[in-house]
Amino acid sequence: MLQVEIDEGSGFCFGVTTAIKKAEEELKKGKTLYCLGDIVHNGMECERLKQMGLITITHEDMKQLHDVKVLLRAHGEPPATYELARQNNIEIIDATCPVVLKLQNRIKQQYDTAKSQIVIFGKKGHAEVLGLVGQTEGSAFVIENFEEVKQLDFTHDIYLYSQTTKSLDEFHRIIEYIQEHISPEATFKSFDTICRSVANRMPNISQFATRHDLILFVCGRKSSNGKVLFNECLRVNPNSHLIEGPEEINSEWLKDIETIGICGATSTPKWLMEQCRDALLKL
Ligand code: SF4
Repeated sequence: MLQVEIDEGSGFCFGVTTAIKKAEEELKKGKTLYCLGDIVHNGMECERLKQMGLITITHEDMKQLHDVKVLLRAHGEPPATYELARQNNIEIIDATCPVVLKLQNRIKQQYDTAKSQIVIFGKKGHAEVLGLVGQTEGSAFVIENFEEVKQLDFTHDIYLYSQTTKSLDEFHRIIEYIQEHISPEATFKSFDTICRSVANRMPNISQFATRHDLILFVCGRKSSNGKVLFNECLRVNPNSHLIEGPEEINSEWLKDIETIGICGATSTPKWLMEQCRDALLKL
């Protein structure tokens, strides 16, 4: 008898849950609500909110809008977005996650105190990273991976931060490399700004993935933390597949399988994991 288990620890983090709740509350008031960028890296949840009336816009679209309400999602925004809102008389519904907000403030404070080499370990062009770089008037240096740490100037002070969803292990490797190469006259400080809502899921998800013959990781392909978590599943259980929804389940995967684990990223809605479970049971 095939057993299917949904991981209790998977699903939206509190930052995303709060942003969606704020959007729903505003939409219930019946007024037009715009959201700057996808509210969550999950196409199906975006579609559900679109059906409720949420209109997703780009930064270019926002420039054309006046006297409206725009929701800022959990990833946060650079100061330029707030300035644009002020100029266009746009009311901001700020759903920036408090963890991201704190990180933005820390970087801004550091930049305002001493305009030193601020380095962010994060994905170039990611909304959260753009929000962080914006705190330094665009001067922060972004490194995407361990290899890129070699491009830093080790003769100058380095203040290292991390995008909230990056891997802790890689962050620690970067710290070690800088410690080994920094000039004696330069200062190096690192700040562990990785969100535990994601980091704590790593040990949990790897335990979960080892318990099952097959793992279905449900997640939008654009999600950063989804990639990190899915790679962990793959590492401990090569029979892991990333799917965006039940329609991507391949019945070939179910051959000689007794237990299936369904899990997902912080941006994966629970209802979607349940739909995948129901689809599996039908198969
Ligand atoms: S992953 Fe962490 S920092 Fe990012 S939105 Fe969720 S709770 Fe906030």
